[in-house]
Amino acid sequence: MKTLVWVEHDGQSVKDATLSAVTAAAKLGEVHLLVAGQGVDAVAQAAVKIAGVGKVHVADDAAYAHQLAENVAPLAVELMGHHDAFVAPATTTGKALAPRVAALLDVMQISDVLSVEGEDTFTRPIYAGNAIATVQTRDAKKVLTVRGTAFEKAAAEGGSGMIEAVAATGDTGLATFEGAEIAALTRPELTSARVIVSGGRALGSGEKFHELIEPLADKLGAAVGASRAAVDAGYVPNDYQVGQTGKIVAPEVYVAVGISGAIQHLAGMKDSKIIVAINKDEDAPIFQVADVGLVGDLFKIVPELTEKL
Ligand SMILES: Cc1cc2nc3c(=O)[nH]c(=O)nc-3n(C[C@H](O)[C@H](O)[C@H](O)COP(=O)(O)OP(=O)(O)OC[C@H]3O[C@@H](n4cnc5c(N)ncnc54)[C@H](O)[C@@H]3O)c2cc1C
Repeated sequence: MKTLVWVEHDGQSVKDATLSAVTAAAKLGEVHLLVAGQGVDAVAQAAVKIAGVGKVHVADDAAYAHQLAENVAPLAVELMGHHDAFVAPATTTGKALAPRVAALLDVMQISDVLSVEGEDTFTRPIYAGNAIATVQTRDAKKVLTVRGTAFEKAAAEGGSGMIEAVAATGDTGLATFEGAEIAALTRPELTSARVIVSGGRALGSGEKFHELIEPLADKLGAAVGASRAAVDAGYVPNDYQVGQTGKIVAPEVYVAVGISGAIQHLAGMKDSKIIVAINKDEDAPIFQVADVGLVGDLFKIVPELTEKL
């Protein structure tokens, strides 16, 4: 079985989520990659080094300059003429692309795959991760998005893939790129961070969030996350949100500060290796998943903890 994995990149390097998608794809058979963009030599060179990769199809064209899903989907469909499965990471961009590929191929998409049980059988979460469905498809061509935290990352070095240039399929004219506002990160990115400190509604304001959560995160070299309540209250921007409708994370350590542990929040972080919860309510549901629990007032505990670290 030949699988085509779409490479998510920033024009210079391959994003980590792609490496997890390669591991998932390798369970289906031969792995080929698709690099679409403009001026993507560095990305293609990085892609051929990924362990276990065969061909790396490179489409370098102005139509793919901003990786608009509307333009990349027909290219992927063209390549699917000689591939059996299309795999994209279940990231924002991957989730924009894969459904278009599935629709153009007239097959169903299997979303957020957690495991590959066979060449047509997969597991995926339903009900915010409270149940796991086993899904079997009869479609000849499979289209999957895979959850990065469910698969180890393939080694970024050691592979010996081959670059193959592919002709562009052109600009569909369905979307135009107007601009991008990219947040400048001074801390690790949420989805790839080893440690995350997240704050909840209990912080009470954006000022308190910054005053308490950020120094603790900086001491731990951690990324900063938040519950939806904290985002909705405007303490932090919505790209901080962890959970069912936010980012799915599985760091080595997740510190939840003043977060109750609603199922929608747990859906995004309960696979973290060690969960530390700070909450004044000893019955808060977060303690049911926590490995380390501190019952008390966060306004007292967090500054003390930050100072001791
Ligand atoms: C369709 C849908 C999707 C959703 N998606 C998400 C999602 O992606 N992510 C998400 O997070 N939520 C999501 N939610 C919202 C979710 O249901 C909760 O409302 C939200 O997670 C609550 O955020 P919170 O824990 O910060 O606030 P609260 O539930 O208000 O909890 C605050 C906690 O802080 C504790 N506390 C208060 N004061 C202190 C103090 N001084 N010291 C220590 N602890 C204190 C309290 O005991 C409480 O446990 C979604 C809801 C729906 C319906």
